[in-house]
Amino acid sequence: MDAIKSDSGGAAREVDVVVVGAGFAGLYLLHELRRLGFSSVALEAADDVGGTWYWNRYPGARCDIESIDYSYSWDPDLQREWQWSERYATQPEILRYLGHVADKHDLRRDIRFSTRVTGARWDAAAQRWSVRTDHGDEVRCRFYVMATGCLSVPKTPDVPGHERFRGASYYTGRWPKEGVDFTGKRVAVIGTGSSGVQSIPIIAQQAKELTVFQRTPNYSRPAKNGPVPKAKKALFDADPAGYRAAARLTGAGVPVEKPELRAFQVSEAERRARYEEAYQSGDLLVFGAAYTDILFNDAANESVCEFLRDKIRALVKDPDTAEMLTPRDHFYGTKRPCIDTNYFETFNLPHVRLVDLRREPIRTVTETGIDTSARSFEFDAIVYATGFDAMTGAIVAVDVAGRDGLSLKQKWDHGPRTYLGVMTTGFPNFFTMTGPGSPSVLSNMAVSIEQHVDWVRDCLVHMRAEHLDVVEPTPTAEDAWVQHVNDCADITLLPRANSWYMGANVPGKPRVFLPYIGGVERYRKICDDVVARGYLGFAFAGGSGRRCNDGVVRRLQPDAEIFLEMLTELGAPRIETLSVADARAFAAASGAAQPPGPAVGEVRDGQLAGAAGPLAYRLYRPATPGPHGVVAYFHGGGWVLGDPQSDDPFCRYLCVKADAIVVSVNYRHAPEARFPAAADDAFAAVRWIADHAAELGAAPGRLAVCGWSAGGNVAAVACQLARDAGGPPIAGQVLVTPVTDCDLSRPSYAQNGEGYFLTTDLMRWFWDHYADPADRTSPKASPLRAPSLAGLPPALVVTCEFDPLRDEGSAYAVALAKAGVAARERQGRGMIHNSVPGVDVMLSAVGLRAELASALRAFLGAATPHATAARRDPASAAHA
Ligand SMILES: Cc1cc2nc3c(=O)[nH]c(=O)nc-3n(C[C@H](O)[C@H](O)[C@H](O)COP(=O)(O)OP(=O)(O)OC[C@H]3O[C@@H](n4cnc5c(N)ncnc54)[C@H](O)[C@@H]3O)c2cc1C
Repeated sequence: MDAIKSDSGGAAREVDVVVVGAGFAGLYLLHELRRLGFSSVALEAADDVGGTWYWNRYPGARCDIESIDYSYSWDPDLQREWQWSERYATQPEILRYLGHVADKHDLRRDIRFSTRVTGARWDAAAQRWSVRTDHGDEVRCRFYVMATGCLSVPKTPDVPGHERFRGASYYTGRWPKEGVDFTGKRVAVIGTGSSGVQSIPIIAQQAKELTVFQRTPNYSRPAKNGPVPKAKKALFDADPAGYRAAARLTGAGVPVEKPELRAFQVSEAERRARYEEAYQSGDLLVFGAAYTDILFNDAANESVCEFLRDKIRALVKDPDTAEMLTPRDHFYGTKRPCIDTNYFETFNLPHVRLVDLRREPIRTVTETGIDTSARSFEFDAIVYATGFDAMTGAIVAVDVAGRDGLSLKQKWDHGPRTYLGVMTTGFPNFFTMTGPGSPSVLSNMAVSIEQHVDWVRDCLVHMRAEHLDVVEPTPTAEDAWVQHVNDCADITLLPRANSWYMGANVPGKPRVFLPYIGGVERYRKICDDVVARGYLGFAFAGGSGRRCNDGVVRRLQPDAEIFLEMLTELGAPRIETLSVADARAFAAASGAAQPPGPAVGEVRDGQLAGAAGPLAYRLYRPATPGPHGVVAYFHGGGWVLGDPQSDDPFCRYLCVKADAIVVSVNYRHAPEARFPAAADDAFAAVRWIADHAAELGAAPGRLAVCGWSAGGNVAAVACQLARDAGGPPIAGQVLVTPVTDCDLSRPSYAQNGEGYFLTTDLMRWFWDHYADPADRTSPKASPLRAPSLAGLPPALVVTCEFDPLRDEGSAYAVALAKAGVAARERQGRGMIHNSVPGVDVMLSAVGLRAELASALRAFLGAATPHATAARRDPASAAHA
């Protein structure tokens, strides 16, 4: 890539890089481009720098990430020079700060103010973007970067009649520079999101009357603003670089203590004390980080909600007003939470009233005020604090046309599609700063902005060094990234809310979770990984030819990835290096740390007759009225580890979701009892359970089997032995990532045999303990090798993409189907060997777990033997 000769910035008609926007992102990008010798110009609609902090001059506007954190890290002198006057700086102070940065680095000379970009078109022949402005002129450039902000396009008020009002109308996101004096005025504020929560207490101090129109109450709590906390400042000043480095390795870009416990692992008193501490801290992020499961688990989150609701009830004197202000329709953190100064207390003032739009919606704005369905109000001024067309609004407001005239607006019609939130396929050399699919609004944006600027800068430098002219992500990489962004969101509670994160605040906007919720640290690692792997997922073209490094940077489900990282962090031993006793102790300790699973009607322990003596079992009975079918369940653990309690949460889950009695059986373990002890015990247990159904309180003739891993192996073998013995009848088998064969040379072993929890070495260790090589090919050890699979019960075989056992599970499902058995396979995309039984831990498997439970339910719904059930597809039966 040759540098374009131009008079950099100012009036230039041709530059290397056009940057749109001169906020936090545009300013830093401009600085870096200039430093590295790229000619560039920033085009900015406002008449000065500042972005968010230029436009949002409403009373009370301030940051809610502490200013020490919410500031640039790239200028070490600036960090020393600039002293924030408050913990959360006001808008004027932040604007002064950005102005100071622009002055200090003489950035304004490369910015064209009062210039709105209206369109941009990729000229493939010239390999240039033509960027059009509202002045009717054009700037041509190699690289086009939209640093246009995630929250820079105020939402057009969807309030009928708003144009009729003859008094003054104000928009928090476009506040007049000269300010507004509400003294003696009757004022309406519509909206109680972040801007409303900040402005309402200040407007109330001036106005004669203030009426707040609220659609959705918000979780807010005191910001405890004041001088910059001494301890924090001392920590920062002692080592600014170290502090910033730590911030980059966090979930949200602010150093906070990482939680280790789940909410219900502690007593209620301890939990409330933790929440009280979080409440008193005035820190926006601490509640979300109070326990590991706050943003993942309904009950954990509800415990925060209830705590905060109590606080609202305590602050607001009138119980009806308190109730109106109390959020009940969304979980904490699923809409952007707020911190405030006297927000709830404001509603105790005699001249302030609240109108709940859920009770009385606005019918219309009139010439003199607002009519709701119940009342008419008169106002001198209306303030719209109605939020933004977030994340995509400013990007699609520009008519961007990529390769072959492809319209970005059209491409994103059903939701934005990006690779890493930084580029989008079909739009060469086009970058978005903190674009959709990046952490952006879920983080301290100063950190995320710097990371994006650095990444784009380095990409441009790389291209220059390698004589590359054009870069674009591949469709494969983009599709997989969109999938990963959704996978990350789907394991959290956030997609359940009607939030602006979901685009739900803008009528007609597609409902898609817009930011990346995997966290700043994880995201940064992924971006670095992409570069380290030779710009994985990008295609480049230039003088040195075309280079396409197609591929996918993340396929694993995020919870599986977190689980694997946790094992590494904990320094978990490789089980195959342990003695059997130590391995069992380790497995038992790990099991004890599992979330408990759902409550069931009854849990009781007993003994049944195994092949060579009594076997312990644990029975789980549903709370629902019977009669229930019964599931004989066989735990995992490679025939060596585990017991009837080791898959306790999964058994509880199956009991509740399949509405069945689950009998978890303790078959004999190797190496004390080697092959075929486990298989014989499994069959004996199935027979015993069938014979004693009435005694167990189960409906006779309604028996299914289920097992995970080696438990899936013995469950499959038990079905074969039952068939060969002429009974008992088994209505269906659900085999979860089962061992079906002793051949360790299938591709899934080569692909997943290391690094995904169950390793090839561990499988060898299990086999060695269980069976002599000569015995392993017996169908009682390798059920896939049975001479015939005909006549077996219908089956659901669950496999996982990143499991060494994947291919033998698939092979078993195929072989069953070939033999005429109603069998099917369901594969867990991105999942690992223990994803499916990981109740309340592996949330990506929720759907798969539900599916296997309903398959069991369907099997058991048929009180007939498998000969009849075999003609039915368990899946369609389950979903019927
Ligand atoms: C009230 C408020 C408080 C916030 N508080 C915090 C906080 O505490 N912590 C935090 O991390 N984040 C906060 N944010 C988010 C904030 O937007 C970002 O932190 C950050 O300021 C974004 O910087 P930016 O440069 O990416 O975008 P912006 O600051 O939004 O700048 C984008 C610029 O692009 C310009 N522009 C857009 N389209 C065009 C066009 N077509 N042509 C020309 N110019 C265009 C706009 O005029 C704007 O100046 C807050 C946002 C708001 C609204």
